[in-house]
Amino acid sequence: MNSLSNPVGILAVQGDFEMHGGMLDRIGAPWKLVKHPQDLGEVSALIMPGGETTTMLKFFHAEGLGPAVKQFAAEGKPIFGTCAGAILLAKEVLNPPQDRLGLLDITIERNAYGRQVDSSVRRGDCRELSDRPVEMVFIRAPIIRRVGEGVRVLGRCDGLPVLVEQGNILAATFHPELTEDETIHRFFYKKMSH
Ligand code: GLN
Repeated sequence: MNSLSNPVGILAVQGDFEMHGGMLDRIGAPWKLVKHPQDLGEVSALIMPGGETTTMLKFFHAEGLGPAVKQFAAEGKPIFGTCAGAILLAKEVLNPPQDRLGLLDITIERNAYGRQVDSSVRRGDCRELSDRPVEMVFIRAPIIRRVGEGVRVLGRCDGLPVLVEQGNILAATFHPELTEDETIHRFFYKKMSH
């Protein structure tokens, strides 16, 4: 059981971390920005936002964040990666291959929707989480090309897995913080109390 006394951490090295804070405010979840490895000691869960993984990786290397996040995950604390965050969590990255944490047994292809549909708003199904279709914002989004045996697909859009879970790790290829729909953040916040 994870302690709920500490806030949700939002990784704030680059990307749209502020919008996650707005969503957590809406569901009444306390949060705190995480910039350095030592900040992880003050949070019970971690959100890794969207942005640009190549830039984020530079901060990871400079700050020694990789080993710190892996240790955080090994302690069973929940981590939620959205878009770039999902790419960083993956076991294998394509287009091109790059460094990653390898905490989630998926193969993910960066910028996989192509130029024509660079960004789009779609509707997907997250049946275990909501009876209604969930609005999903994709921005230069990756596609999950392989899902490992221990990974549960919780959300699909256009026949593709877009929300997946493996133990304490949750990842979305879309941006749930950019809609009015609180479903995904509520689900993650609940994970903290299990
Ligand atoms: N295209 C970005 C990357 O590959 C991810 C895009 C996003 O997070 N919205 O790093």
